[in-house]
Order: sequence, then structure tokens, then C-alpha cells
Amino acid sequence: MIRALILGGTANASLLAAEIARAGIEAVYSYGGRTRAPADQPLPTRIGGFGGVAGLADYIRHAGITHLIDATHPFAAEMSRHAVEACTQTGTPLIALERAPWTKTPGDSWVEVADVNAIVVVLPESPAKIFLAIGRQHIAPFATKPHHVYTLRFVDPPEAPLPFAADVIVSRGPFTLDGELEMLRTRGIAWIVARNSGGAGARAKIDAARMLGIPVIMISRPRLPDRLRVESVAEVMHWLGHRTCLGA
Ligand code: NAP
Repeated sequence: MIRALILGGTANASLLAAEIARAGIEAVYSYGGRTRAPADQPLPTRIGGFGGVAGLADYIRHAGITHLIDATHPFAAEMSRHAVEACTQTGTPLIALERAPWTKTPGDSWVEVADVNAIVVVLPESPAKIFLAIGRQHIAPFATKPHHVYTLRFVDPPEAPLPFAADVIVSRGPFTLDGELEMLRTRGIAWIVARNSGGAGARAKIDAARMLGIPVIMISRPRLPDRLRVESVAEVMHWLGHRTCLGA
């Protein structure tokens, strides 16, 4: 019998949870606990870290998990590395559900960097209006360039003071192309810093940047250990040995 664990926190993970519930497969959905009001899932849900690789391996053993599905965000690298390690230790089959990264299209002006620390070096010396489309846990390096005017966008209002002055937008995606064009125009944004998350909802700002001729500093995805990786919910269902109403 299958008892799956979904490491979630993404739109894809919610789609998968709905499909798994519809198929009547026993499963637990796990949130990292970063957002204050995570969306309800049609599956038993747990919230918060497991306590590293050892904690996850213990959880897998004690909860009788037979299959692990890593449907976390492509930049949630620590969780994904722990999943590979814990599944190796416990002999649990693992699959990653991860959307494809964006690729450059004609007209895109991207400077691709390996990580957030490399960005600060690439930023212009003269003051500029910069939209940081990255999580709050990654903004600290920008405190070394306080002469820029930063716009940040978060799902929840910041609880602690930010490390530098910034305009904060509180909003939960997905975002539309028209909305992103309006936001970038009215704020006079000259640079965007983004992570190559992939997906349609987060893509709107990249398309808007191309249309407005705004350069994007694009952070490449973190490198992860080899693992079975698919891009669709249907492929995960197939891996679980179930048909899906979503098509092949
Ligand atoms: P991370 O840096 O890779 O993970 C840090 C630690 O948080 C993990 O070692 C684990 O703690 C715990 N954790 C993360 N995801 C978890 C999950 N789904 N269930 C239980 N524990 C989890 O992850 P992150 O970048 O902070 O992301 C946290 C969550 O937010 C993920 O679920 C991710 O899908 C979601 N999310 C992230 C982003 C992003 O930009 N990174 C964007 C949208 C959504 P222990 O070591 O104690 O087990």
C-alpha cells in the first residue's frame, strides 16, 4: 500500500495534492512553515521542519512513508538535499516535481549569476530603482549598496525591520502581465533581480521587463544531487502507479 509524503509549498504541490486526494491515495502534505496562512490542502497536513536529514529519516520510518515526492520550490535546496539523503538512508523511492527553468527569449536582457552574493557586484554604481523579486531571507547583501532605491514584494508583511530602507509590496501571486507592467512603470524600476523559478505566474515580471527594456539579473538554480525529476503532476501520478484525469 502507498503512503506518500509530499514536501510542498508550491502551486504544483497543491495541484498534486488535489490529484492524490481524488485518486484516494493515502498521503501527508508537509509545509515548511514560512507563510503565516498556508492554503488548506485536501490531505492531512503537517507544518514545520523535520530536524535535518536524521529527523526526516525518522519521520519516514515512523509514519510508514513508502514514497516521497519533493514538490518544493526549485530554490528550496536544503530541503531537497535532505530529501535525497533521507531517502537514500531509508531506501525510500523519491521523485522531484519541479517546473522547468525559464529560458531567454529574443529581447530579454539577462545577466545570469550563480547566487545572490554575486549580484551586488553586478549592480550599477549610480543610484537606480531596483525591484528585488527574491525572498526576504536573501536580501541582506543589498545593505552594502544603500544608495539604490529598492522595491520588495512579500507574501506577508515583514515582522522584523528590514536591513535597509525599501518600498514593500505585500501581495501573493500569481501576477498578471498587465499588473507587472503597471507596477514597473509607476515605480520607475530600472533593474530587476529575480531567481530562475520557472512557472507561468512568476514569469509575468520577466515578460514585462522584456517589453519595457528593463535588464534582469537572473539567479541560476542551485545545484542539487541527481534524483528522478519530472515536470508534471501526471508524471508523478504515473510513478505512483495511478492514472490521472489530467492526461498523460
Ligand atoms: P530550504 O531553505 O530548502 O529549507 C530549510 C529548512 O526548512 C529545511 O531544511 C527544513 O527544515 C524546512 N523545510 C523546508 N521546506 C519544508 C517542507 N516542505 N516541509 C517541512 N520542512 C521544510 O527551504 P526554503 O527555501 O526556506 O523554503 C521553505 C518552504 O517554502 C518550502 O516548502 C518551499 O517549497 C516553499 N517556498 C519556497 C520558496 C523559495 O523561494 N525558496 C518560494 C515559494 C515557496 P528541517 O531541516 O528542520 O527539516
